[in-house]
Amino acid sequence: MATSVVRLFDPWRNPLCTCPPKYGLNPYTGCGHHCKYCYITSYVRDGFNPRLKENLLSRVKRDLEKIPRGSTVALSNSSDPYTPPEGRLGVTREVLRLLLERGHRVLVVTKSPLVLRDLDILTKHRDRVVVQVTITTLDRELASALEPHAPGGRVEAVRRLAGAGLAVGVRLDPIVPHLNDGEIDAVVRAAAEAGARHVVASVYKAKWDNFARLTAAFPELAPLWRDMYLKRGRRVHGQWYAPVDYRRRVLTTAAEAARSWRLQFSICREEFTELNTPGAFCDGSHFFNFYKSTVG
Ligand code: SF4
Repeated sequence: MATSVVRLFDPWRNPLCTCPPKYGLNPYTGCGHHCKYCYITSYVRDGFNPRLKENLLSRVKRDLEKIPRGSTVALSNSSDPYTPPEGRLGVTREVLRLLLERGHRVLVVTKSPLVLRDLDILTKHRDRVVVQVTITTLDRELASALEPHAPGGRVEAVRRLAGAGLAVGVRLDPIVPHLNDGEIDAVVRAAAEAGARHVVASVYKAKWDNFARLTAAFPELAPLWRDMYLKRGRRVHGQWYAPVDYRRRVLTTAAEAARSWRLQFSICREEFTELNTPGAFCDGSHFFNFYKSTVG
């Protein structure tokens, strides 16, 4: 029997993960965006080659019979649900339809404006949808070096999603030391001006695969990162974290920027929970409670 594709979320059981329980669903195995900091290649064979899961839609239908109506399903956390083949396959679109027509709540995380193609479905069920768009930099040159196959146009995507009445967050994730940490205020400002309501931030965590890629792409920063991560950092759950004083400083900057724009703020897999807006979760699922109490 084919394995489940709708599975309980928390593949890492990271002790610093604080968001509520939910399900996760990745329509694709692997992701084509090739982000240098991504650690998909540490646990997925041929991780930068996205391929549709076999018999995906029938497996999703089968799995949805087993979970309670109104469940929260994250799409997706191991690969972008709008990874390049989705443009021609349209399977994430069908998955969204299945989930939402069956009464579930959906968290979408993406780097692609392709999500706008599905605005009709998303807005029809807007009280059960939260979209987070990852924006790590506004600098096109840096973006093409850091996330070489991920599309631009993300600020505009936030604007259109928010303009359609959806709850939208921006993930400033990851903040990579000495690379995009000077852009925190600018990214938060762009998020606010585009209509996002929530900012999530996290500092880059090193694994063997992404560290090798980053140091090859930015060799001038390699000695600094080696010092920060391998000498002065600490190991948490199989990843190297940057020194605590650095992380506290940049995440405080992000939290203060969010506050100054009246945005909600959450950290992701970091220990400084005092920076979080009370009641807000990094996955954006708190928006469902908002709708529950104020809409319908
Ligand atoms: S979009 Fe996400 S899953 Fe895809 S390569 Fe980038 S970090 Fe990895």
